[in-house]
Amino acid sequence: MGKALLLSGGMDSAALAWWLKPDLAVFIDYGQRPAAAEKRAAEKIAEEVGIPFEAVHIDCSPLGSGQLVGSAALPEAPTPEWWPYRNQLLITMAAAIALRRGHLKSIVIGSVAEDEVNADGTAAFRLALDTVMKLQEGCIGVEAPAASMTSTDLIRASGIPPEVLGWTHSCFASDVPCLRCRGCNKHLNVLDDLHRRWPQISCDAVS
Ligand SMILES: [Zn+2]
Repeated sequence: MGKALLLSGGMDSAALAWWLKPDLAVFIDYGQRPAAAEKRAAEKIAEEVGIPFEAVHIDCSPLGSGQLVGSAALPEAPTPEWWPYRNQLLITMAAAIALRRGHLKSIVIGSVAEDEVNADGTAAFRLALDTVMKLQEGCIGVEAPAASMTSTDLIRASGIPPEVLGWTHSCFASDVPCLRCRGCNKHLNVLDDLHRRWPQISCDAVS
């Protein structure tokens, strides 16, 4: 069964790309501020993995809020970068792309244990969306094979080399890491964790 990975250019989906070598990597510029840097990262990672890459630009920025569009977070926002219905939106777009390609039957997303802070990072959300997607023509499902893993464990298990991980972009606010947002903080914490637990692996290339 063919799989399409939503490749954001961040650490988690990059590790999944390296690990699973899906049939297609899909990048979506949905109007997020760091889209150019994310796209550059995603394209390079897909090239390194050696898988087909498709990028689409669908400007949804009028629907966004928080750091990803440079505006104030809504009262409902659990985190400063929260974008209403983002995962639902992106998975739906990716499924439409996968359906056009014919042989793809599931969308793989890079959710990890830390993502449960948002409702669309939970198992309940993924199960419900998988059900809704499969009710529709094409019967494309949703998979999150690393959902029970931490980012550090996923990266370690994937075997992604530091020089490939070094291409990833995690900042929510900008094309250049702001070093203040949750994305930047997570990126740095994961690198520290990897280096502390497996010091034999050089992290020079990703620091
Ligand atoms: Zn940042």
